[in-house]
Parts: sequence; C-alpha cells; structure tokens
Amino acid sequence: MHIPEMDRILLDESEIQAKVGELAAAVSRDYRGKEVRLIAVLKGAVIFMADLARRLEVPVSFDFMAVSSYGHSTQSSGVVRILKDLDESIEGRHVLIVEDIVDTGLTLRYLLDLLEGRRPASLRVCALLDKVGGRKVAVPIHYRGFEIPNQFVVGYGLDYMERYRNVPFLFIMKPEAQAAGKPAV
Ligand code: 5GP
Repeated sequence: MHIPEMDRILLDESEIQAKVGELAAAVSRDYRGKEVRLIAVLKGAVIFMADLARRLEVPVSFDFMAVSSYGHSTQSSGVVRILKDLDESIEGRHVLIVEDIVDTGLTLRYLLDLLEGRRPASLRVCALLDKVGGRKVAVPIHYRGFEIPNQFVVGYGLDYMERYRNVPFLFIMKPEAQAAGKPAV
C-alpha cells in the first residue's frame, strides 16, 4: 500500500506480532483457571484485541465500549464521553481492558474509575503502546507492549482521519501531515 503521509515505520509487523505473543503468554499465565472478559475501546483497539485474543489460552468473552476521543484531530480534548456502553454486566468478572495506546491517560483513567464502580472481581489493563511522554494523569498498565515516542502514530488499528487502521505495521506521520490533522484554534 502506498501511504503518502508516512514518514517512517516505527514497529514492523513481526515486531508487533512477537510482542502480542509475549503479552498473551503473560495474560494466559496470570489468569490460568479463570475466565476473562476482554473489553476493548472502539475502534482503535479492535485489531490488537483480535490478535491478542486468538493467542490466549484461557476462556475469554468480548465486550466493547465507545468513547469520544480525538475525532478527526491529533490532539486530545481531555473530554471523555460514553458513546456506547458495555452490553453485559461485569460484576464478579475478571475484566481486562485492552487498549491500543495510552497517551494522556485521560481515557483510561475515566474507564478504570467507571468500571471499578461496577464491582468486577478484578480489573487490569493491557496496552500495546505507551506514550509515557504524553501522560497527564497516572494510570496502571499491567501488561505493556512498547514504550513509544510522543509522536502521532498510525496503523495496527490506529487511524489517521479514519484511514490506515488495516495497515499491519505502525508508522509515524510526516510532520506536515501531523500538523494538518490538528484542530484549528
Ligand atoms: P489518551 O486519553 O490516553 O490521551 O488517548 C487515548 C486515545 O487517543 C487512544 O485510544 C487513541 O484513540 C488516541 N490516540 C492517542 N495517541 C494516538 C496516536 O499517536 N495516534 C492515533 N491514531 N491515535 C492516538
């Protein structure tokens, strides 16, 4: 695929898949004998969740939430709003939030507080990408894939104006494309 806005590849397909395997092994080990409810935040985490789930060796079920996030810009608004809530109760369940990327931490902080209030048996986080440099609020990440630089990344579920979620690797945008994606102030 030709990607005009791509500056360079940050993580190639085999690096990502190897890491997903490591994360799945750790999760499978920790949850042995239990059933896990995987919760993904739409839409970015869908690809990661699909790959992770297929490598887990414990029984799993899926649920999804949609929250407002970046929309068509590359800047976090800091405002989190539920667009779609979970279909099923999580009370008494072992819940693992599957996140594509943690940047400011605002989305995850909100989700953790919300879901904790619904009395799951346990609540943990598995995030493929951690932009530590972008953090505004502290959040626990029990299973972490890669620490990445504080730049706008696209691919493997993450979009640029809803495009490129299907790209199997992760790339960094050209600076001019990053600027073009920011909201006018
Ligand atoms: P946070 O609330 O931690 O700032 O942001 C979490 C959400 O922002 C992610 O789930 C993702 O949708 C979006 N996001 C954060 N950084 C990036 C990035 O570099 N690229 C893309 N495409 N989305 C991002």
